Amino acid sequence: MTIVPVPGPLPPGSTIGIIGGGQLGRMLAMAAARLGYRIVILEPQADCPAAQLANRQIAAAYDDTKALAELAKVSAVVTYEFENVPVAAAGLLAQSVAVFPPPKALEVSQDRLAEKRFLNGIGISTADFVAVDNDADLASGLSDFAGSGVLKTCRMGYDGKGQRAFRHFAGDVDGTHAAMGGVPLILERLVSFEREISVIAARGTDGSLAAYDPAENVHNAGILHSSTVPAAISAATAELACRNAFAILDALDYVGVIGVEFFALGDGSLIVNEIAPRVHNSGHWTEAACAISQFEQHIRAIAGLPLGDTARHSDCVMENLIGGDVERAPALLSGPGLVLHLYGKAEARPGRKMGHFTRIRPIAS
Ligand code: AMP
Repeated sequence: MTIVPVPGPLPPGSTIGIIGGGQLGRMLAMAAARLGYRIVILEPQADCPAAQLANRQIAAAYDDTKALAELAKVSAVVTYEFENVPVAAAGLLAQSVAVFPPPKALEVSQDRLAEKRFLNGIGISTADFVAVDNDADLASGLSDFAGSGVLKTCRMGYDGKGQRAFRHFAGDVDGTHAAMGGVPLILERLVSFEREISVIAARGTDGSLAAYDPAENVHNAGILHSSTVPAAISAATAELACRNAFAILDALDYVGVIGVEFFALGDGSLIVNEIAPRVHNSGHWTEAACAISQFEQHIRAIAGLPLGDTARHSDCVMENLIGGDVERAPALLSGPGLVLHLYGKAEARPGRKMGHFTRIRPIAS
């Protein structure tokens, strides 16, 4: 795949293309505007959260070749806000415009098997896993893992969707592969972790690296509920998390922000659960507790600007507002250290991320 390099730092007034119109695209558009850039969004859904703040929306499917050609024509650089952008579309774009993060990062992160093989290949630990293409594979994998594991679809799983956990299971698995859609699956050994953490890191066009402090994440029903910073981990574990993130960025010759999710084990070691080649929900706290947010950091990286300072000026807890939680918004406008962010979504469906808030407080000494 040809990658067209960014022609030096992008001057203000340049246009940045974003594939995907959700809240991450919206927050990227806000950060880009602050640096003087224009934004065009490729997204089929009208009045999407990102397009509400963009200069222009190309309303078409992500793999519409005419729309992709138009996006390439009007953009100085193209990025994306979700990892399920068709790799072929990113590859097509990359022939005529710089696409950051590189399409290789999409390939790796779209398939849980490819992701784990890539990570293990660069010496990073993951949960033990087996590929599951039928019920017999599942039965044999479960027996290898003493009956405890998490079965996941290899592709298109997010927020815990497409998953089934087994604990000390000794029963019959007949029909499970079909019940999971008959698609390629992966069985992971059930990890007994102490906590879940994530690191938001960035790599610039010049190979420079930066990382924010790790966040400690709590999920409810597979969806991120809260991120707390600092995480209750040792300095050595925090440093290990950053080292792992940097190794991933270098191995992918990456440009932009990445989210790396880890399971932290009781002995201080880490294993990577998954990587997201984009700004990440567990990094939303950076807009309230750091001078430069993950969104600005991503725009800086892809625009060929120097990476920003990742230092934290406050401790904080970020909480998502999911579905009806958004009714809490008026109360979250007052109170010390509260920073509210709503995504401009009209309908508060169950499970839908409507906004988030971050409560900051002075750094505990
Ligand atoms: P994922 O979609 O892979 O991020 O999984 C969603 C959540 O399920 C994770 O944040 C963990 O809380 C849990 N989980 C996923 N994989 C495993 C595993 N192999 N062992 C234990 N818990 C897991």
